[in-house]
Amino acid sequence: MSEPALLQTASQVRDAVRAWRGRGESVALVPTMGNLHDGHLSLAALAAGSADRVVMSIYVNPTQFVEGEDFGAYPRTLARDRAVVSAAGGIDALFVPDEADVYPFGLQRAVKISMPALSRELCGASRPGHFDGVASVVLRLLNIVAPDLLVLGRKDYQQLKLIEFLVADLSLAVRVSSGPTVREPDGLAISSRNQYLTDDERARAPVLHAALRELGEAVLAGERRFEDLQRQACERLRASGLEPDYVEVRSAADLAKPAEAQSPSELIALAAAKLGKARLIDNLSFEELAAPR
Ligand code: AMP
Repeated sequence: MSEPALLQTASQVRDAVRAWRGRGESVALVPTMGNLHDGHLSLAALAAGSADRVVMSIYVNPTQFVEGEDFGAYPRTLARDRAVVSAAGGIDALFVPDEADVYPFGLQRAVKISMPALSRELCGASRPGHFDGVASVVLRLLNIVAPDLLVLGRKDYQQLKLIEFLVADLSLAVRVSSGPTVREPDGLAISSRNQYLTDDERARAPVLHAALRELGEAVLAGERRFEDLQRQACERLRASGLEPDYVEVRSAADLAKPAEAQSPSELIALAAAKLGKARLIDNLSFEELAAPR
């Protein structure tokens, strides 16, 4: 059990990082919106294995919530998060900034990042501006913390690909690494938003993962009619009372539309669906599916 430092301003985190660097230590940043769960902790463990110091940020970023979304209702559980992080160990500092630290001139005057076309596909099609907001906050956090390593989850695969692109395109001096999706025993990807589900919805939610597995197994077996597979997966979701936003097979490297000749190991299936108050997302790389369990 190790108590992480609680840093609440940009200057506090800069001072801490400067002191570590002065001792030749490397620093990893794990950005989160809090309400911590095993998915977040798995990324912290990954970070601790690759850097001397781990900073986890907790910030519910207003600019990535689209009109009508759950910004106000998003679970903010700092006292519990601090206890979770202390019990887990391996995290040196929790950075919990105020809006004024992240957006010093306020949201209206803030510089905005405009991400390329991929940001308007898949999840971006129904959440206009979401990935611009994500990119803005990640860039701001990177500038404040100046880590050597940024650790993200493959659970949010489109986000990961867009942030990798942001880092490459702006020549940012940070490495990006990613960790696999941590799941409940029934396959449901762990997410803070799962707590919006009623008991009945929770019992139906694993169909999202099951539908992706079924689609992936068909592709591994040689099926290449992706449109048909996507439609069947959507039907399966609807039959369980989910409202599919999309199910799509894409190229895993860059999320481009897949070519028929691509081998399954180069592909990934991604899905999003509404279930009650929750919008659930998941993905499955076919490489992951083919690996022995
Ligand atoms: P969030 O707090 O939901 O913004 O997520 C913060 C980071 O945790 C992001 O990089 C997510 O991709 C990652 N993450 C969220 N859920 C999971 C999960 N179940 N497994 C692995 N990483 C996750």
